[in-house]
Amino acid sequence: MTAGRQTPPMIDPFGRAVSYLRVSVTDRCDFRCVYCMAEDMTFLPKREVLSLEELDRLCTAFIEKGVRKLRLTGGEPLVRKNIMSLIRSLGRHLKTGALEELTLTTNGSQLARYANELHACGVRRINVSIDTLDDKKFKAITRWGDLHKVMDGIRAAKDAGLQIKVNMVALKGVNEHEIGTMLEWCHANGHDLTLIETMPLGEIDGDRTDQYLPLSMVRARLAEAYTLEDIPYKTGGPARYVEIKETGGRLGFITPMTHNFCESCNRVRVTCTGQLFMCLGQDDMADLRAPLRASEGNDLLYDAIDEAIGRKPKGHDFVIDRRTKQPAVSRHMSVTGG
Ligand code: SAM
Ligand code: SF4
Repeated sequence: MTAGRQTPPMIDPFGRAVSYLRVSVTDRCDFRCVYCMAEDMTFLPKREVLSLEELDRLCTAFIEKGVRKLRLTGGEPLVRKNIMSLIRSLGRHLKTGALEELTLTTNGSQLARYANELHACGVRRINVSIDTLDDKKFKAITRWGDLHKVMDGIRAAKDAGLQIKVNMVALKGVNEHEIGTMLEWCHANGHDLTLIETMPLGEIDGDRTDQYLPLSMVRARLAEAYTLEDIPYKTGGPARYVEIKETGGRLGFITPMTHNFCESCNRVRVTCTGQLFMCLGQDDMADLRAPLRASEGNDLLYDAIDEAIGRKPKGHDFVIDRRTKQPAVSRHMSVTGG
């Protein structure tokens, strides 16, 4: 399966080494979060989606090209049938030391079922997305989600020895006054918390201008109640962290809108159909499914990856305002993966 030839690492035109791959293993999900999807979504026909074996081969090729951190996402990664077979198989790269970290971003709905197995496969940290601790509001935001199930999942994950980072999208008028509560809950339970600004990705039912809450404002408000100290902690992603003196826990800010973090970008993303996106906020992509399926060796695949990395753009240019009604890119976050 692996190619005979040595393949060079991925260095983009701006000198940034690509060492972090996020793979969306499915575009499907058991939730319909209001900022992420329209309620009535059309999903990809199954034949267009890479098989688990193809995803394994693709991830392995990226690891051979220098990827050290791999995050599975979606859609909801844990609703893909037999997903554990892929995770188990990818765990072999942790054992050899080729991969430093195998992780996933999940809505937590299936965690109670999979937590122990994830740990057994070598997963040590996971991101779980929860935007509110109020079960009625949780239902309103996720449309189809059940907070109790997610909480059971989080408990199971903690018991299994997984470190948990909670992702919370800051939504104006929805959860903006619950950030302190979430912070206290996360830190009391030993979880990090990361706040995310909404990004203009894909058509949704509502107006994004109504949802967008700049994290600079959230930070200023939090600073009235807590002591925030900037810390150099990094997880390989775009979050910048502070320590909250009162709780002793960490709080991250992902600010694609108010502070562009592109200069240190080390990431690329692959969709479940094998499209490689060099930037979450741009439309340019390279099809990897054709070279993957064209031969059993990886030479064509490596060439396609090298050519694409040579086009990685400097950064994104997201705008959310009243005049910009179109999303920056037409893909939903569930296609490219968070
Ligand atoms: N289903 C999983 C979950 O919810 O964690 C993984 C995929 S989801 C697309 C990954 C992350 O993207 C979640 O934390 C979600 O809240 C976030 N997200 C989705 N749409 C977004 C948007 N338009 N702007 C900012 N974050 C978004
Ligand atoms: Fe599903 Fe995650 Fe999107 Fe919510 S944010 S609809 S859980 S993919």
